[in-house]
Amino acid sequence: MLPRISKKLFVDLALWMLGFGFLMGFSFPYFMLTLGFDKTQVLTLEFYSATLIAGIIVALINYALVRSIIGQRLALQTERMRSVSAVIKQQAVHEELRLDVATLKLTVDSDDDVGEAARSFNELVDSLSRSNQVGQDISRFTKMVSAHLDVEALTKQALQQLLEDSGSLAGAFYVVHDGQMMLMASKGIHDPVRLEQNDLVLNGLIQGRIQRIHLPDDIQVAGVLTEFRPREALLVPIFFKGVSEAMVILASQNEYAQDMEPVLERYAPGLGLALRNALSHERLQRLAVLDPLTNVYNRRFGLGRLEEEYSRVVRDNSSLAVMMLDIDDFKVLNDTYGHMVGDKAIVNVVRCIKDNLREGDVLVRYGGEEFLIILPGASLEDGQQVGERIRRTIDDSFIIENEQQIRQTVSLGLSACPDQRLECSDDLIRLADEALYIAKDNGKNRLITA
Ligand code: GH3
Ligand code: MG
Ligand code: MG
Repeated sequence: MLPRISKKLFVDLALWMLGFGFLMGFSFPYFMLTLGFDKTQVLTLEFYSATLIAGIIVALINYALVRSIIGQRLALQTERMRSVSAVIKQQAVHEELRLDVATLKLTVDSDDDVGEAARSFNELVDSLSRSNQVGQDISRFTKMVSAHLDVEALTKQALQQLLEDSGSLAGAFYVVHDGQMMLMASKGIHDPVRLEQNDLVLNGLIQGRIQRIHLPDDIQVAGVLTEFRPREALLVPIFFKGVSEAMVILASQNEYAQDMEPVLERYAPGLGLALRNALSHERLQRLAVLDPLTNVYNRRFGLGRLEEEYSRVVRDNSSLAVMMLDIDDFKVLNDTYGHMVGDKAIVNVVRCIKDNLREGDVLVRYGGEEFLIILPGASLEDGQQVGERIRRTIDDSFIIENEQQIRQTVSLGLSACPDQRLECSDDLIRLADEALYIAKDNGKNRLITA
């Protein structure tokens, strides 16, 4: 290392070059002597002056060349670094960071220290851009998932986003429910339900950390039935306060980026929290509308639904059938076999009713062993058919207690829209209830139409 002369490298360089120019100019005549030139020719003032001037000119040209070749590049690099720094400063204020990688990058056209410096700078821009991209993806992802209170919508969107951000072609999202995995969303996997039982997946949940599974070309991957040949799969367990909540499986045709695990680890906490919120919300909602014994709608919710359906019928001039169902001689059953068996009988009746309902029909536990059945779009005749099927199904069914078959029957009262006697939704229930009383009076195990 040459000693420093001034505070500026280029001034030092110029001084060193001038110094060496002088030295060359000064020593050149002696060099000529060694080549056999005559003293009188080379050790003259004119020759000295000429060689000194030549030395100085060479020094100045060298300096100008260095300044223009290296100085320009350094100036460009400085300017780009300032741009990067300005963008980062901006990010502290506005969240969005806009790094225009293409315009910031330097051209690498030399295989030396200068080229190396440019290459390192470009790598820095790339890393900044990637880290910024990951940061933005995670922030967008966390915002998106925390905006959902609906578990199904949340898991669908979260999976879609994770597939995109990780560059995966296939994936599945399972939620842990009572220690079991339940498929919530999937893409590109033929039989995702089968994976619920897969040892690798279940172990992944126990291990509690992201696992990368490499699938070499020459092994047949049983169970993982993607629509393409996966090269790598990632198992991403999602936790909330140490409790496993979910498992996300991702599969890619190519190998994942080296930093994929730590990147996905940054997605997990936001997802875990959002999922916990949505699951709690769903549970509360279910508790608010469902009857705990039978898992069908409770009376409050059912009456609200009936009112909605009634308004729709009035608006659209369509039809609606409503039934009240009551188990016959239920007190006797309770008294003979006890309340527990009574409960079992109620659950059996619900199963029989459900077997005869279509999607869109609403079953409500109206009272202890009394049910309200709302059939939107059904006419009185449709209602009669459905009611009769329900009555028969229950009549044919039984529960077994102490190896003894216990049978039940039910009575039903049916009303339907349109009907001149109706003024509000409560009238539908009143008419169906009156019909139910007639059914009881007429010997039970029958359906009466209002
Ligand atoms: P009917 O044929 O006239 O309907 O006679 P019934 O004995 O069924 O009379 P009712 O419909 O009035 O009977 C209601 C009985 O149902 C009273 C109550 O002890 C019983 N009950 C109500 N809720 C439940 C329940 O959740 N579990 C059980 N085991 N019994 C219930
Ligand atoms: Mg009864
Ligand atoms: Mg009753």
